[in-house]
Amino acid sequence: MNIALIAHDKKKQEIINFARAYQYILKEHQLYATGTTGSMIMEVTGLDIHLFQSGPLGGDQQIGAMIADDNMDMVIFFRDPLTAQPHEPDVSALMRLCDVYQIPLATNIAASEIFIRGLHDGDFQWREIIKQKKTKGKQE
Ligand code: PGA
Repeated sequence: MNIALIAHDKKKQEIINFARAYQYILKEHQLYATGTTGSMIMEVTGLDIHLFQSGPLGGDQQIGAMIADDNMDMVIFFRDPLTAQPHEPDVSALMRLCDVYQIPLATNIAASEIFIRGLHDGDFQWREIIKQKKTKGKQE
């Protein structure tokens, strides 16, 4: 599955701890991240992550583009609700696209833990089924 990892600055340590704890699950998937979040996670965990631009420089929009192409299966986004973000419109757009395309979106560590354990237990296999159906539809 394609999974996006994003964290606002004050949540970066939290997402690093999260990625370290669940590295054994995350390593089974294709990981994508905004620039700074991704490089920090890679440095600590050694996970292989495709890095987009930093969030304020368009990284959230690049992840949004993958969602619009139905190529993202889950978004784990450790948001900081207490600090104004210069790229707030991009953040809103990303979350909006998750709702448009019904992509599972976790915006804090509590939800992310449930997502990641569900991922491990196969609860998100419906995403693969949808993708297979779409590919089949295109071939017919
Ligand atoms: P960053 O972007 O990982 O490059 O810091 C995250 C964000 O603030 O959207």
